[in-house]
Amino acid sequence: MFGKKKPEVLVVGAGPVGQLAALALAKRGVQVEIVDTGIWACSHSYALALHPDALALLDHFGLRDAALRKAYPVHTVGIYDETGRRAQVALTANGNLRDCMAVLRQDAIEALFEKALDEAGVKIGWRRELVDLASNVDHVLAKVNRLERDSRGYVVARSEWVVAATERFDVPFVLGADGYESETRRSLGIDFDEVGEPEYFAIFEFQTDADLENEMRVCFAGGTVNVLWPLPGGGCRWSFQLPANVSDEPNRDKDRLLLSGGLEHSKLVDDTHLRQFLEERAPWFTGSVDHIAWRMVVRFERRLAKSFGQHRIWLAGDAAHTTGPVGVQSMNVGLFEAWDLAHMMHRSLHEGAPLCDIASSSARWQAEWQRLHGLSGGLKVEAQTDPWVAEHAAALLSCLPAHGKKLDALAAQIGLSF
Ligand SMILES: Cc1cc2nc3c(=O)[nH]c(=O)nc-3n(C[C@H](O)[C@H](O)[C@H](O)COP(=O)(O)OP(=O)(O)OC[C@H]3O[C@@H](n4cnc5c(N)ncnc54)[C@H](O)[C@@H]3O)c2cc1C
Repeated sequence: MFGKKKPEVLVVGAGPVGQLAALALAKRGVQVEIVDTGIWACSHSYALALHPDALALLDHFGLRDAALRKAYPVHTVGIYDETGRRAQVALTANGNLRDCMAVLRQDAIEALFEKALDEAGVKIGWRRELVDLASNVDHVLAKVNRLERDSRGYVVARSEWVVAATERFDVPFVLGADGYESETRRSLGIDFDEVGEPEYFAIFEFQTDADLENEMRVCFAGGTVNVLWPLPGGGCRWSFQLPANVSDEPNRDKDRLLLSGGLEHSKLVDDTHLRQFLEERAPWFTGSVDHIAWRMVVRFERRLAKSFGQHRIWLAGDAAHTTGPVGVQSMNVGLFEAWDLAHMMHRSLHEGAPLCDIASSSARWQAEWQRLHGLSGGLKVEAQTDPWVAEHAAALLSCLPAHGKKLDALAAQIGLSF
């Protein structure tokens, strides 16, 4: 378009991680384009909490207070079994609201970011699908299809959308935040290895009169891990891990969202099951169950990309790693990866920093994910560790809402270390 500056970074994917990357680039004066296959921002509450340090990251954009206004503040992680609370981890040193974990729906997070992007003059290019990437010594060529509901163009597989036009970007960098099925990762030929068994969770959101005491509750029961989240507006979300043999269900496919009206899976998550899960796994939950607004079964895979990119094309968020839902680690750590990549790309573009700096930073994130997946030894038990906590040490690793030094500090509160 006339007068528009040439983009320096193409961000692929406008989930929370891609949007934060675009915001961080724009804040540093980098010319950024962001595209997403979607028609508009996500309208669901998938990942639903910002870790305390991710909330603090929003300070860079003046968004922490706006996020807090919409959030339910969580100050502690309670660790339970069927009988009640067995351990507790404090997220805030002094109960300070600004340092809490903010329970905030993913669509609310994305709406906050999209508004900030709009104010920074960056418009998300919805209905734009990256279909090809080719890189050169000093630039990357990206082919992006513009999708429209139109009788012209050619039909895109399994949808009524057609390719109305193909746009070509010639940019110094591409930042792939295009999620689990990342085309960016695929174009680089990077393996996305399974590093653990997939897990299935039945997820319910409903209104309740229970006092949830500003606590996220992780509940180990009968070999399963379950989590209770208080939600803004008086509701809560319970996620119950399903037995491993659920993966033998008919019609199993790679689709993470198993229940989209399919009868064969709906039997797993009706009201009777919710009551049965509560009775068996969390009899201490005596709150009411009113107005079930959302219920489904989701398959969560544990995967890690062999590398987080190369040369001028780099990955962040679910494009590089996936894990279980309890500690909300994939999205939150992804926000930090995006923040770092934006910083590194800016330094390379505007300060002449070498490309190997980006490679080193991404290698550190890959190593952190090895740790989060327990591939570098996992959490260790100390002599003074409570035996019940010791028994659940391995499973606790992906349940604590933190990474890096903050994760060490949370683990230390219950006598665990790396
Ligand atoms: C049903 C469901 C329930 C979930 N529940 C939880 C939970 O309880 N707790 C939890 O921690 N996590 C949960 N998650 C995972 C969580 O949503 C992700 O970790 C988070 O969204 C990752 O953010 P992201 O920005 O990296 O990727 P995403 O949010 O996946 O965003 C990627 C974006 O890239 C776009 N895109 C993909 N391919 C292309 C392309 N070729 N061209 C252009 N754009 C493209 C997509 O449209 C999408 O908007 C859930 C996920 C699902 C699907």
